[in-house]
Amino acid sequence: TDAHLSAIEAARVLNAFVMETPEQARDMAKAVDEKIARGDAGPLAGIPLGIKDLFATKGVRTTACSKILGNFVPTYESTITSQLWRDGAVMLGKLNNDEFAMGSANETSCFGPVGNPWRREGSNTTLVPGGSSGGSASAVAALLCMGATATDTGGSIRQPAAFTATVGIKPTYGRCSRWGIVAFASSLDQAGPIARTTRDAAMLLRSMAGHDPKDTTSVDIPVPDYEAAIGKSVKGMKIGIPREYRLDGMPAEIEKLWSEGAAWLKAAGAELVEVSLPHTKYALPAYYIVAPAEASSNLARYDGVRYGLREQGKNITELYENTRAEGFGAEVRRRVMIGTYVLSAGYYDAYYLRAQKVRTLIKKDFEDCFAMGVDAILTPATPSAAFGIGEKGGGDPVEMYLNDIFTVTVNMAGLPGIAVPAGKDAQGLPLGLQLIGRPFEEETLFSLGEVIE
Ligand code: GLN
Repeated sequence: TDAHLSAIEAARVLNAFVMETPEQARDMAKAVDEKIARGDAGPLAGIPLGIKDLFATKGVRTTACSKILGNFVPTYESTITSQLWRDGAVMLGKLNNDEFAMGSANETSCFGPVGNPWRREGSNTTLVPGGSSGGSASAVAALLCMGATATDTGGSIRQPAAFTATVGIKPTYGRCSRWGIVAFASSLDQAGPIARTTRDAAMLLRSMAGHDPKDTTSVDIPVPDYEAAIGKSVKGMKIGIPREYRLDGMPAEIEKLWSEGAAWLKAAGAELVEVSLPHTKYALPAYYIVAPAEASSNLARYDGVRYGLREQGKNITELYENTRAEGFGAEVRRRVMIGTYVLSAGYYDAYYLRAQKVRTLIKKDFEDCFAMGVDAILTPATPSAAFGIGEKGGGDPVEMYLNDIFTVTVNMAGLPGIAVPAGKDAQGLPLGLQLIGRPFEEETLFSLGEVIE
């Protein structure tokens, strides 16, 4: 814990942590030491972790990196973090992220952007770590913590993992409790770990997962020993290579990485099959209707009355307006506007309902594929390596949204997806591959992911 606290101090330039909690960390570590001495150490005894600032931590400021929650100190602990502390993990602090987890570059945080510890060869440009869990990925990659919690609504665990050569898994929707996590789009949000290796990710997910009566969408099925899946043979597994993920104009290095990944799995005894997911091209536009719609509804609670920032006004309506105008950043306001628009009478059927129907078709594509006996699907994790801070999306938010092209389908279908480091681009930057699994079969992803890693 002390070594990591010093590393965090020395790497403040990355802006990965928005809040350091050294006193709590040392107290927790001491308490774990005493438990170890008594012989009842948990599976994560003494493992220092960073926590995305979307997870409520009792007595420790939790902001979702939004000005509107700038002074919010929860009186409760999220289910996931409680389970991590139950198992002996130690909290080093809270990690930066895109405001309300909306973004793909960690550039929308009210605490400013996060730096990626990786650099292009021969260049000093600071690159983004990806988003929205940019602080989590950067901190793990820079060895500031041994693992981190993260959330993934449309790729926010897997894309930053790919940009930083770390491992990130978004489990099946319902695998982990969402209780005590600031909500973005409730039908898509799912938490998971970002870690240095697939084995570490497996250990962390085991502690994070499990049924929670406080989240009615969490599923009551046993959590397997994910670590046991590491090193397990993948012989005979059927791996789908989806035709529709071969985009026009895809960089040659991404194409090459994808073929190499397939070859490694084949060499390990897996069987490769070409599969078709015909509705893939509709996933991104449908996601960018469903996610803002749910966000606009979830964010209605930030009204300046209940908690967080309060701006004054002549009457209650003005108080709401001033608080929300002052408290939300540009990307969040954009999503709230899109969301309320697509949910309005007259537009609901044309946009929201239609996007939900598309979502069903996307889910069915995967079901058809799994019905053919496919165990997992291999795709690139991102269409490019990390880019420079401010390089993308400035004039056109859609340029940023295109980052999620390979990851959003997984959230739309509620499936588990893992991103593992697989190679480097011409400038020496990490690139990742994604494996998508059957519902509640995260073990398969750990076994396959470890082969690639
Ligand atoms: N980049 C996507 C978005 O901005 C996904 C974010 C996430 O997964 N939290 O909505």
